[in-house]
Amino acid sequence: HKTNLEMIKDQIEKRHVELLHLQFVDIEGSLKQVTVTSEQLGDVVEGKTMFDGSSIKGFTPINKSDLYLLPDLNTFAVLPWTEEDGYAEARFLCSVTNPDGTPFEGDPRTILKNTVDKANEKNFSIQVGPELEFFLFETDAKGDPTNRVADQGGYFEPAPYDLGEKVRLEIYRTLKKMGFVIEASHHEVAIGQHEINFKYADALTTADNATTFKWVVKTIAQQFGLRATFMPKPIFGENGNGMHVNISLFDQKAGKNAFFDEKDSRQLSEEAYQFIAGLLTHVSSFAVFTNPLVNSYKRLVPGYEAPCYIAWSASNRSALVRIPATRGAGTRVEIRCPDPSANPYYAFAAIAQSGINGIEKEMNAPAEIVDDIFSMDDDERILRGIQNLPTTLGESIRALVDGEIGKQVLGEYALKEYLSLKQEEWNSYRTAVTDWELASYQSKF
Ligand code: GLU
Ligand code: MG
Ligand code: MG
Repeated sequence: HKTNLEMIKDQIEKRHVELLHLQFVDIEGSLKQVTVTSEQLGDVVEGKTMFDGSSIKGFTPINKSDLYLLPDLNTFAVLPWTEEDGYAEARFLCSVTNPDGTPFEGDPRTILKNTVDKANEKNFSIQVGPELEFFLFETDAKGDPTNRVADQGGYFEPAPYDLGEKVRLEIYRTLKKMGFVIEASHHEVAIGQHEINFKYADALTTADNATTFKWVVKTIAQQFGLRATFMPKPIFGENGNGMHVNISLFDQKAGKNAFFDEKDSRQLSEEAYQFIAGLLTHVSSFAVFTNPLVNSYKRLVPGYEAPCYIAWSASNRSALVRIPATRGAGTRVEIRCPDPSANPYYAFAAIAQSGINGIEKEMNAPAEIVDDIFSMDDDERILRGIQNLPTTLGESIRALVDGEIGKQVLGEYALKEYLSLKQEEWNSYRTAVTDWELASYQSKF
């Protein structure tokens, strides 16, 4: 029986892996990497690779800048597009450590791990399956993205065999070679919009997969002369990009899905209802993690299959939290506000912790909303106690500051960094004078 490390050494030899990319994410979830030669493997796995933390967004100040990378051996993958003339490159995803070897408190991967560990202490393992949507845009002669989408397809449209479909096929093949289990792939509602789904897994594996997925999609699209974008609302008047998060808790003691209960009328357990209550209670204060950009809030408007009101339902797609029809081991809740610009480590940690808070505090879920919320007028929603999600990044920053979930999940250090980044972004947008303003006001006033 070979260890992980022995298998990696075999792969490196067999596939002539020349270079190793050591990857990690900054506070926005953006991928970073430093490259070493594969002869360095010994030092690499001991966590001896140093980098300048003060040059990474939200990491360390200049006077305490040294940080180290500790690769997670489970994330080793040979990169299919680098295989050439019998040589190849591979990557690891890494956690970040301080010079003394302790976990660095500003590392998003470490922060999700902390949430996972806390859940484990209560015998829960967190299972997550996200659905990331993206657009493919044409590029110009210089390789910059244009505003022309790559195809004119619509929801589930199979033909003609367009560029979008060819790109999706190549993305699928690449991810499969890297160890992904791909479950489905389709054209989404908007022109030029696509979705590819990979199998759910534990929260950390899934956050790693979401990070890898975004990178691979962009990389393969570029080979076709296209720009893939996960920005939440690239085209006014069209559906935006969502990242629905399907989540469940596995009860490790009982050895079963903690959300399933045969005896309930909806076959949902007490914990499932409490988890939903936790999500609805905390969603406004974690929206800045699941919907981190100014542009995120242009997606959360009525009429585009994205939620804007705080409610749950067993099947209603206008609700924030939906319960997909599967029961038994596949029982889960789907939260529909997140978008794929989110740092998945923060988003999954905040969502899971909010639900777990609901269980710990035995929160009561409000009544299910079965009617279409988009067609209710304001009075009816107010009467039924249905509140709005934050409508701007500014509102969600305020909700984060007022709530407790940010501190509970990120800790003081990372929260402060994240807040100052987001405040700066909001202020920059808030004070910019836009084309919309000029078009509306310049001549009239
Ligand atoms: N694109 C939609 C959104 O913004 C979701 C469509 C779907 O149900 O898959 O969330
Ligand atoms: Mg979709
Ligand atoms: Mg969905």
